[in-house]
Amino acid sequence: MQTSAYASDALPGETVDAVVIGGGAAGLNGALMLARSRRSVVVIDSGTPRNAPAEAMHGFIVLDGTPPTEILKRGREQVRQYGGLVVFGKVASAEPAAPSADGDLRFTITLADGRTITARRVLVATGLRDVLPDVPGLAEHWGHSVVHCPYCHGWEVRDEPIGVLATGPASIHHALLFRQLTDDLVYFTRNTPLDENTRARFAARGIRIVDTLVEEVVKADDGGVAGVRLADGAFMARRVLAVATRMQARTEGMDGLKLPMEDLPDDMGRRFASGMAGTTEVPGVWVAGNATDLTAQVGASAAAGALAASHINALLATAETDAALAAAQSGTATA
Ligand SMILES: Cc1cc2nc3c(=O)[nH]c(=O)nc-3n(C[C@H](O)[C@H](O)[C@H](O)COP(=O)(O)OP(=O)(O)OC[C@H]3O[C@@H](n4cnc5c(N)ncnc54)[C@H](O)[C@@H]3O)c2cc1C
Repeated sequence: MQTSAYASDALPGETVDAVVIGGGAAGLNGALMLARSRRSVVVIDSGTPRNAPAEAMHGFIVLDGTPPTEILKRGREQVRQYGGLVVFGKVASAEPAAPSADGDLRFTITLADGRTITARRVLVATGLRDVLPDVPGLAEHWGHSVVHCPYCHGWEVRDEPIGVLATGPASIHHALLFRQLTDDLVYFTRNTPLDENTRARFAARGIRIVDTLVEEVVKADDGGVAGVRLADGAFMARRVLAVATRMQARTEGMDGLKLPMEDLPDDMGRRFASGMAGTTEVPGVWVAGNATDLTAQVGASAAAGALAASHINALLATAETDAALAAAQSGTATA
């Protein structure tokens, strides 16, 4: 995955209302909502968004066709426009700290370079990592000739000779979606089960099935995929390979928050468990985007970030009102 460094704001010394961990679509939209609500918010982002290999983002109205780097650059500018800070860096640890004098929650976030910041609330928007099957030559084409999402790059590979490298039961449905995009589709079973009924359904749609193992992906002279070499030595020309990846929420640095996790069926992936508006079982910590919704695209991730942020703002407003009332009743002056 690419790393793209960008201009970083300085980390503030004082406690902030919220730290957002991860500055992709989910984190930046969350930060935008918080900043516009006059919350002090700091996004900490290591600059490796999931769709970094893609030349353009598709399937989201108005922004369709825009490079992901451009969307994130504009997103950071918009967060900063309202006073939010975006810090380039990697969170190494995040954990609850001692509460404030009035009992409000506190979290300590430590960056890999040793800097720390204290926040009242945390939004985890770290995205996910796509784990590809271990096929020699496959990984170097990820996001170009090796694709996973018919809605992201399906139109761009329409009518090409496409091969589905099966990874499990989810690949069956994947094949039907890619069949919508090309008449020339081969399903490489790769030792995954395919019952007679599914074989008949594939045959009815003109999807060819290859049970011989794929040994390697062969590169074309133009740098793309030429095809696959099978275990029996045969070569099958394919320009595009579709792979349902194992989707693994990015948890590096998050252990101290002790967020519960959940496995998806059929080894499809592992996510942070969440409830309404990205709430978690850990008071004061929310999750949004691919870190908890493994199938969310950019639009859904951004929307989830915005929803979680509005919930954070709402609960902060309630907590502040509770504290003000308690102070008023005890005769202590507050803001
Ligand atoms: C090749 C490819 C192409 C795609 N194309 C499309 C498309 O065309 N349209 C579409 O809608 N969707 C597309 N997607 C899906 C899209 O990438 C995701 O929906 C989207 O990125 C999810 O946003 P997010 O904010 O949850 O996560 P991300 O965008 O992955 O952002 C997470 C951020 O958190 C940061 N981070 C992680 N851990 C830490 C840490 N410990 N400390 C600090 N920062 C951290 C990362 O560096 C990253 O910047 C594509 C995906 C792939 C793989």
